[in-house]
Amino acid sequence: MVKPKIALYWISSCGGCEESVLDIAENILKIKELADVVFWPVAVDTKYKDIKEMKDGEIAVCLINGSVRMDEQEYMARLLRKKSKIIIAHGACAHLGGVYGLANFYKRQECLNRSYKEVPSVKNPEGIMPQTHSMDGELEFELSGFHDLVKPLNQVIEVDYYIPGCPPNPKYILEAITSVLQNVLLPKGSIFADRKALCSTCSRRDSKPEKVVMKEIKRPHEWEWDSDKCFLAQDMICLGPATRGGCEERCITANMPCRGCYGPTENVMDQGGKFLSALASILDSKDDNELEKIADSILDMAGIFYRYSLPSSLLRKKVK
Ligand code: SF4
Ligand code: SF4
Repeated sequence: MVKPKIALYWISSCGGCEESVLDIAENILKIKELADVVFWPVAVDTKYKDIKEMKDGEIAVCLINGSVRMDEQEYMARLLRKKSKIIIAHGACAHLGGVYGLANFYKRQECLNRSYKEVPSVKNPEGIMPQTHSMDGELEFELSGFHDLVKPLNQVIEVDYYIPGCPPNPKYILEAITSVLQNVLLPKGSIFADRKALCSTCSRRDSKPEKVVMKEIKRPHEWEWDSDKCFLAQDMICLGPATRGGCEERCITANMPCRGCYGPTENVMDQGGKFLSALASILDSKDDNELEKIADSILDMAGIFYRYSLPSSLLRKKVK
């Protein structure tokens, strides 16, 4: 029997999402029973030309992790879109832009200067910068172009489904792949995760006060906190109220506040803006100076609230 084809690809990715596929553990055999893996650069030695030679729509489902910033990444995303019936954005970077999206707080040239001239481990006295086209004698070299902004997958190609998380919960990776292979198709745009905010399933939810009030903001390393009590009740920032659940509270169980990698809950357009407005309503002071002091105690506010979602936010980048 000819099995449907499945592909997995990474673009601007740390490799954590690839690891999350291995976290499916022995259940990966279920996928093997249902489909043939025809492209997975981290594990299978297939070439780009093999994909180019396929018929359009020949791949039943393709999971792409990572965000898009380089010409090659955009080219591969478009090629895989053409060759696949279903595209799943796999992980926070493909879903929302992810941690790489924080680079959108800087201009393209600032990123290049930092990497090639300024970091202490780089020695580049002549200030040589990468070129997309260069010659060495008769040898000609091509490098992939570096775009102005980091983009999530759906700003480059049409995406059918999303598996959020940094990295995602393997339970949902398995569910997404098997449901597509078994032709149990959810509405387009569905997100494989909970519908409600993380607080609704969090093991500490009973200690979350009805009305949260904060007089100061503490950072996790600054003191010893109660490992059973809601972080917000202990004056620490936890993004659980503004983040979709589905991660099985892996950070909370490891005694770390939620950082928001599952993205906004339903009907929220801007996750960072949502949390910012929630925070503004729980700071307990009417005095402008005191409020300013509390706000100043949050180091890198934009980085905390938009850690995973800046390229998908309303502004998408720093606007000067
Ligand atoms: S979502 Fe997280 S784990 Fe996946 S590629 Fe991005 S940074 Fe890595
Ligand atoms: S704010 Fe954080 S710690 Fe408190 S209930 Fe929500 S997810 Fe749990």
